[in-house]
Amino acid sequence: MTRLKTALAAAVLVTGSLITAPVLAQDKGTIGIAMPTKSSARWITDGESMVKQFEEAGYATDLQYAEDDIPNQLAQIENMITKEVDALVIASIDGTTLSNALANAAALDIPVIAYDRLIRESGDVSYYATFDNFKVGVQQATSLVDGLKQRFPDVSPWNVELFGGSPDDNNAYFFYDGAMSVLQPLIDDGSINIVSGQTGMDTVGTLRWDGAVAQARMDNLLSANYTDKTVHGVLSPYDGLSIGILSSLKGVGYGSGDQKMPIVTGQDAEVQSVKSILNDEQYSTIFKDTRELARVTVGMVQALLEGGEPEINDTETYDNGVLVVPSYLLEPLPVDKSNWEERLIDTGYYTKDQIE
Ligand code: BGC
Repeated sequence: MTRLKTALAAAVLVTGSLITAPVLAQDKGTIGIAMPTKSSARWITDGESMVKQFEEAGYATDLQYAEDDIPNQLAQIENMITKEVDALVIASIDGTTLSNALANAAALDIPVIAYDRLIRESGDVSYYATFDNFKVGVQQATSLVDGLKQRFPDVSPWNVELFGGSPDDNNAYFFYDGAMSVLQPLIDDGSINIVSGQTGMDTVGTLRWDGAVAQARMDNLLSANYTDKTVHGVLSPYDGLSIGILSSLKGVGYGSGDQKMPIVTGQDAEVQSVKSILNDEQYSTIFKDTRELARVTVGMVQALLEGGEPEINDTETYDNGVLVVPSYLLEPLPVDKSNWEERLIDTGYYTKDQIE
């Protein structure tokens, strides 16, 4: 705010009149955008959408990716603060490690938006833009159950294994809890059997959302529990994990001969997974339109720097340990073979060429 005013005052001095000064693109200031990694396509799309929309709104951007390395992300954010960016948008790797850096940002009046992932243990977070993360989990589990009914109608109980996301990502708990709100009653009534007995984020979490870690865990689950049993479904919270899980399943013959592929869920509608769905391997994914997330985020930054009301629709759910961060939750959408064109192609998120 202060810096913007100073810049405007300088513009008046230089031009003599603010009214005649043309508002050049990108002269409203610079937004620092810290993204976790380029190893997953969704974050690349997030970054691109934000740069485009911030530029259209008259801001320059400093976009950095940290390749899932926590000290690297911290250094990038500290550097943005040193350069006195006008606002920070952060999709954190570890949501608990940024408190000191954000205190420095606050001292310089630099507002912070938590992007997609909640930043925890800091009072210096202005807003949170995300999707309804609990609902993502509900949709994943609902799709898992629908798939089990469809592909294994005569089986009881269904043998299922559970995977969680990274334990340092607040979202992972929401996805897991949402999914368990659907699955727990079916476990309790005996329709679903978690053959390994492994449940709870402490046990099923996958550090840094790493597909190789998920693949190795699936290998172990299969060799320890399924030499004389069939697995029918796997709850996977993210496409990158699903691809690893599917490799493991294919490695022991699922999806060929009379061994039907288990129902495997996902998230993010990444190209590789959409192709896998069309190939009858992965069963479903969750589409989160990151263009919309960028739009909401740009709106929040504009409200903070230029005045106006940011879009908020939740002031209760996201307690970060210090405050309940005012949030905007977007709607996630389940995608499977029956609706991928309508949800991903007709909306212009992908072209058909990218998928086929
Ligand atoms: C995001 C998901 C993503 C996961 C792994 C989560 O925080 O909300 O969309 O699949 O991180 O990148």
